[in-house]
Amino acid sequence: MPMSQAFKDRLFPHLENIAAHYGTPFHIYDEAGIRATGQQVKDAFAGIPVFREYYAVKALPNPSVLALMQDMGFGFDCSSVPELMLTRQQGAKGEDIMFTSNNTSQTDFAMAAADGGCILNLDDISLIDKVPSMPELICFRYNPGNRRTGNDIIGKPIEAKYGVSHEQIAEAYRKAKSRGAKRFGLHTMLASNELNYSYMVQTAAMLLELVETLGKELDITFEFINIGGGLGIPYQPDADPLNIEAMGKEITELFLSFKEQQGYCPALYMESGRYMTGPHGVLVTKAINRKEIYRTYVGVDACMSALMRPGVYGAYHHIDVLGKEGGETEVVDVVGSLCENNDKFAVERTLPKIDEGDLLILQDTGAHGHAMGFNYNAKMRPQELLLGAEGTVSLIRREETPEDYFATLTFEEKVLSL
Ligand SMILES: *Cc1c(COP(=O)(O)O)cnc(C)c1O
Repeated sequence: MPMSQAFKDRLFPHLENIAAHYGTPFHIYDEAGIRATGQQVKDAFAGIPVFREYYAVKALPNPSVLALMQDMGFGFDCSSVPELMLTRQQGAKGEDIMFTSNNTSQTDFAMAAADGGCILNLDDISLIDKVPSMPELICFRYNPGNRRTGNDIIGKPIEAKYGVSHEQIAEAYRKAKSRGAKRFGLHTMLASNELNYSYMVQTAAMLLELVETLGKELDITFEFINIGGGLGIPYQPDADPLNIEAMGKEITELFLSFKEQQGYCPALYMESGRYMTGPHGVLVTKAINRKEIYRTYVGVDACMSALMRPGVYGAYHHIDVLGKEGGETEVVDVVGSLCENNDKFAVERTLPKIDEGDLLILQDTGAHGHAMGFNYNAKMRPQELLLGAEGTVSLIRREETPEDYFATLTFEEKVLSL
């Protein structure tokens, strides 16, 4: 099931009004829904002595949404310098932030260490000698190679550019320890948009096993394991949601039996993006044209700049047409205005018959939606709104303007004479 009935009930009766007030297109996010998912995640892992979600900032890097995460007690997973800046401006500090860069630069290291630092998650053994100063707490991203498969989206770990190999992982901690690290964590990320929760249980089991063997071999204890993000959401109307309660129950059992056998219990960290906000956002766009050639095309006022997933991955985003449920249907392509034939939100989709002026609700855009938008063809990214839990709608990012697009053309002249 895409967008929940509760979100529809909160949004649809007011949508004409919101569209008239703010203009279209816009992404709108549902505070009540985000908070409900946050609570559900906390409840699922409440049996583990220490659990924390580190929201994957790249999914929806808007300060107002990050503030909600912080209010729920969550940390942040960052993988670039501006993401670090964003979370620190939000007031996150030190171990509230996990920095999971890959192909890490010296600029990344400098920024990671600045302003009270963060949990540094190193992507390769060679980086140990490149960290300007080894922090007390260090984490490595583990790539199990042939020992585990990735899911379909992430592919085979052996072909993935991420992480420290199985052969190098013990040496990585040994080296980090000899350079002064005293506290340790272990991270991996092997799935993306995975709906089968067993996959995440297997990941937790694999990391706990590794923590046990590495701990004995190197005489260290691990403060946490981080099973990454990758929890899926049902984009298709007939897909079942991931069973977070069962996932929580089985992972909690693994932790409690680890504690019984080892005498201590690491914390569990998770860094979900999509699962936390994906279903709690929609892109609202207006039909502005209709074109009948070999197919019927409904042209809307948003394009790929607002949502790349259908064009890039052929991803399905469910569409409702406001006020047209249960009426006459037709098969159409829903398209934007970009000069790219993959600028389509839906291809040969059966939808209610759409008239110019109708509002279309493209669902599940709360993660990797606006954030993935681009400016190709000088298309501007749309505004973002927040539907507050108290029944207000606030602008939380304005629409881009041509002035924003031209901003990088204002610079100090630089010419190198050869
Ligand atoms: C993208 C990413 C995430 C979040 O992934 P979701 O599929 O949105 O949960 C978490 N951790 C890392 C390291 C990532 O790159």
